[in-house]
Amino acid sequence: MKPFQGIFGQEAAGALLFAAVESGRLAHAYLLAGPEGCGRLSMALDLAACMICPEEEAGFCGDCRHCSRIFSLSHPDVRLTIPRTAQTTPEEEAALLEARAADGVTPLRFPGNTGTGIGQIREIEARLSRKSFEGRGHVEIILDAHLMRREAANALLKTLEEPPEHTLLILTTSYLSGILPTVRSRAHCVRLGSLAPGLVEEVIARRTSLDPEAARELALAAGGSPGKALAMAARWEGEGENRAPGLLRLLAESRDQEKLLEAAGDLVRELGRDGLLSLCDDMACAVQDARRVLAGRAPIRPGVVSTGGFTDAFLAEVQENFFRCGVRLRANVSPAMALEAAMLSLGENGRE
Ligand SMILES: [Zn+2]
Repeated sequence: MKPFQGIFGQEAAGALLFAAVESGRLAHAYLLAGPEGCGRLSMALDLAACMICPEEEAGFCGDCRHCSRIFSLSHPDVRLTIPRTAQTTPEEEAALLEARAADGVTPLRFPGNTGTGIGQIREIEARLSRKSFEGRGHVEIILDAHLMRREAANALLKTLEEPPEHTLLILTTSYLSGILPTVRSRAHCVRLGSLAPGLVEEVIARRTSLDPEAARELALAAGGSPGKALAMAARWEGEGENRAPGLLRLLAESRDQEKLLEAAGDLVRELGRDGLLSLCDDMACAVQDARRVLAGRAPIRPGVVSTGGFTDAFLAEVQENFFRCGVRLRANVSPAMALEAAMLSLGENGRE
């Protein structure tokens, strides 16, 4: 199987990596940088399979026991490091990986203010110091590398500089400027881009049951990220806890700044940075639905957003504010500041 083929819209990056695989000149460390949901993990797994699969010279077969475990995120020598909180348990980690392997869209993120700590880097070092289980080498994938704490990043430098033999390190990030220059300079950076809305629409149409019009709106809301669009579609189609409708209602009804500040504080405490990022996506879905109803169309998720009492100007402002909130959160602005800015700066004229 030719690697990097199934990663929609990333043909340039794929061609670059394939050339390295084909000529047997894979670097020992890659930094895959691109917006959330653009295919960074898929690319990392293809790279891992290229190194581990014994069936193909330049590529991977896709169905040997190595390949199947790599793509179900359960290969003992292909390990993922996910930013976590002090409370995250190994069971939660296993459950998250299982959920992602099953649906292909669950974001590999924990709620709360997560980071990759020095303990996790020590775990990587310990694994690399042992023989690989299957004797085909080690692949370590460090997700959201911009969330590595400083001491963790510094601890990783030595391994990045001189990795043990038969080791491939892959870092992914959606925020390249959040990576320490010392880390960046030791890894081969591959940039992945956003997709044109038309391409994202195609991915959604292929993988969900949403109608074409909904797929188009979702593609626009997801800003060029198929992964994000699919995750939003899953939230749109699924049940799950969704705080967006309640928050939308609160924003529409309350002019009391104290009350809004308090609500923002509660959300920050409960959800943390990553949970707030999901909330921003949920707000985008909720607003989209409310606007559809205002325009006399059926909501994509009927019965979730109670639509009375919103004006289009208000909804447009909420959409803009929460889009900005997401950008700020990804740029490591404090979650409280980002959310307060989104909630407290809504003009009065948009409300009823
Ligand atoms: Zn294989």
